[in-house]
Amino acid sequence: MKITKVEAIYLRLPVVTTDCDGTQDDLVVLVHTDTGLIGIGEVDSAPTVAKAVIEAPMSHAIANGLANVLIGENPLDISRLWDKMYKASIYYGRFGPAIHAISGIDLALWDIAGKHLKQPVYQLLGGQQHSRLRAYASILFGNTPEETLAIAKQWASKGFTAVKFGWGPFGMDAKLDEKLAEAARTGLGPGRDFMIDVGCRWNWKTAVLREQMLRQFNPFWIEEPLLADDYEGYGKLSERSPTRIAAGEGESNPPFFERLMREGGVDIVQPDVARCGGLTAAMRIADIAQGLGRGVCNHAYKTGISVAASIHYMAAISNGVVLEYCVEEGPLRQETTIEKFPVVNGYVDVPQTPGLGVTLNMATIEKYRQK
Ligand code: MG
Repeated sequence: MKITKVEAIYLRLPVVTTDCDGTQDDLVVLVHTDTGLIGIGEVDSAPTVAKAVIEAPMSHAIANGLANVLIGENPLDISRLWDKMYKASIYYGRFGPAIHAISGIDLALWDIAGKHLKQPVYQLLGGQQHSRLRAYASILFGNTPEETLAIAKQWASKGFTAVKFGWGPFGMDAKLDEKLAEAARTGLGPGRDFMIDVGCRWNWKTAVLREQMLRQFNPFWIEEPLLADDYEGYGKLSERSPTRIAAGEGESNPPFFERLMREGGVDIVQPDVARCGGLTAAMRIADIAQGLGRGVCNHAYKTGISVAASIHYMAAISNGVVLEYCVEEGPLRQETTIEKFPVVNGYVDVPQTPGLGVTLNMATIEKYRQK
């Protein structure tokens, strides 16, 4: 089997706002083969930047577009092709958009492998640790405490045992933060897990003070309180915080996750399989976390493609904490794949069909595809 084409499809809603909602656009990656098998992946990045990484003409041996280095290769040699893509982009890559683009291709290669071998992807990642996964509803804070209370009640009523609120107005003002967190906790009740995503808005000293204030609401974790590259600040905060600190959605490439755990001391790392280097890198990250006694929670805020890939990932690792499940209602999140992977009574079943187990909804692709 040989790779014949790598296709990067840019999707975008007609209106894109400054809300930190990653479901407003997408980059779907299709890897075509000479057998007719097509692998499906997606990238969580600035889509046109990642698309350029895939489509770039060769500048020289270590500044090349990813598609160029894949044509004619056996798609089953996933680990070797990861290294080949990494080396071909190392002059401009190593992290950021180059690794994001590698991620989407890597997901598509795993999908091809699963379809070719007639196995669900989790089986190829080492086998099933879990047949179903506890999922948390991942949503943005409301603009007011009243809106946040209503959002909390909404997702609690749908059976979720854990809900994460993030971004929006949270993090700007201590008094408002207290009111927003109080509203979320009140809406969820005492029996559900409550996660807080700060969206990188504090320095470490502010984060220490806010964590002390937020303890009264018993957060399961505080996520991304600091800028992603403030490893030293994470280290100081983690030493002082009895509340778990989670971070890593903005990281790409396993060595940076290792730094976040060793220097930053974070309790839970959050690789996004559509950004961190794909499932290949995510498995390496889980192994590093396992060795350091840390937990893993996927980050995923795109379409059903990365939801599916995240489910296979979290099903295959032993140190997964809880599955992030984006509940945004936009059409790219809900209608890019035929399969919906519903959460029932707080849990999602692991797909058993070959590959990632996703089928593209071509009506959605054509409707939002940008030429
Ligand atoms: Mg986050």
